[in-house]
Amino acid sequence: MWRRLRIAVLLLVLASVAFSAWHAKANATAWKGTLRVAVYPLAADDSAATRRYLQRLGEDSFQPISDYLNSEAARHGVTTQRPVDITLGGEIRQLPPPRPQGGSVLDSILWSLQLRYWAWQHSPPTSPKPQVRLYLIYHDPALTPRVPHSSGLEKGMLGVVHLFADPRQTAQNHVVAAHELLHTLGASDKYDMATGLPLHPDGYAAPFQEPRYPQSEAELMAGRLPLGPDRARIPDSLDETLVGPASAREIGWRR
Ligand SMILES: [Zn+2]
Repeated sequence: MWRRLRIAVLLLVLASVAFSAWHAKANATAWKGTLRVAVYPLAADDSAATRRYLQRLGEDSFQPISDYLNSEAARHGVTTQRPVDITLGGEIRQLPPPRPQGGSVLDSILWSLQLRYWAWQHSPPTSPKPQVRLYLIYHDPALTPRVPHSSGLEKGMLGVVHLFADPRQTAQNHVVAAHELLHTLGASDKYDMATGLPLHPDGYAAPFQEPRYPQSEAELMAGRLPLGPDRARIPDSLDETLVGPASAREIGWRR
């Protein structure tokens, strides 16, 4: 009897968590009001360069990302005044649980639950309350020339984004952060997982231009700018990217 009751309560809790996650996402991607995004910086190491970079971050450091998304939303027909707003939250001192490398599906599910629990514990109050939370982990490139993979989770609408604490990388950091932000809203990757090359046509900014190569812009969710059938490069800044129609549909900008 008690056992059955406990299981029923547990199922009820899980169902309510799932429902509230679904509801939050449906609400965010209806684009009826401004989507509130909070970014929380974290230092991956104790290098002086990373500390300096974090100290220089201000509210306007992330304006290029919101300006870009707002103009892309308008281009896709969103009529909300300011669809995306990004607020800088306080620095967080404890790193999130690391993503398992090459683990099983169960490992990833467990990690995503751990991460949601960690985020729940590490959401310093910002006003207004954010719908999407991005944890920006900054690495000194002299210590970490290759940063771990970033993740944007649709369930819970949160992202862990690995970036470089170097002013010369700021514009490229914006590309990575915007890409993960769209993941939290339901956009999928548009590149070949094996080769990293953009998938045609959805991963191309101008899929039907003649000749097809080189492209002059990258599709944000493809992550790379195609230069030839087997060559692509990382865009230097958001100016070299756009949100294609397939990604726009996934996040509710197009019906
Ligand atoms: Zn991605």
